[in-house]
Amino acid sequence: MKYDKCPARGLPRRGVLGLGLLGAYQLAIAPSAHAPRSGTAARATGAADGKPLGPAPNGLRPAAGRTGAAPMTTSGGMARIAGPTRPVALRAAPHRTLRETGKKIALTFDDGPHATQTPEILRILRRHGARATFFVIGENIPWNRDVLRRIAAEGHVVGNHSYTHPQLDLISTPRVREELERTCELVAKELGAPPRLARAPYGMWHGPSLEICAQLQMEPFQWDIDTLDWDNRDQRFIEAAVVRGAHPGAIVLAHDGGGDRWATVRALEYYLPRLLDEGYTLTQPA
Ligand SMILES: [Zn+2]
Repeated sequence: MKYDKCPARGLPRRGVLGLGLLGAYQLAIAPSAHAPRSGTAARATGAADGKPLGPAPNGLRPAAGRTGAAPMTTSGGMARIAGPTRPVALRAAPHRTLRETGKKIALTFDDGPHATQTPEILRILRRHGARATFFVIGENIPWNRDVLRRIAAEGHVVGNHSYTHPQLDLISTPRVREELERTCELVAKELGAPPRLARAPYGMWHGPSLEICAQLQMEPFQWDIDTLDWDNRDQRFIEAAVVRGAHPGAIVLAHDGGGDRWATVRALEYYLPRLLDEGYTLTQPA
């Protein structure tokens, strides 16, 4: 797949990224952080992505006031993403498969953190003792800070999926840097260290974005199994994509945010135990 689509994320371009302004935009204008857009990807796929997202609208409510989440500390998160600073080599293309060998597979979830869908995915992962990677959109963080902390505290990796989910090869190089840097800063503020991994929105890496990614000491990651959950919301299709496509070294693309992802959640409940039964070890790209 050329794109991860995330069809709802074709946000109007904004030249100035002000956190306050963005927050005001979300609360005052956007019906949902992942409401229907008229972006290129959405038009190309005919995808509509504007339905309510289950019990609570995504990304629009501050973390305070939600219930049911375990008490959180940042210590686990810091442990997961901190570590000695290491140089990251400039790559001509992102990793599409795992670098480690063995019967290992990585589950990745993009476009969160999401107030309700992400915790449900965390619950399923925890039940099976599995670890995954969450490529988060920076502008979702202020409204889902406790979810972000919980992701890290439960042993999952937090990756950078830009700040507003623009297609990086269509924006200026300074703005690419701003998109990636801002999310690095937000994650570092919440978890104590910046992300070590990044995924370009729609998977659209290009030279400058790969260069900035390396400068920010992040490894660029793509995927090689696309569940197409951004498009079909079909639980059975998602299950089949993972179960049939599974192979050692695979990186699975799914979404915990960006729209109604409950089919993704239900599919995970089905395919995760099957992957484990087949002898796969769930791992995280590194
Ligand atoms: Zn995305």
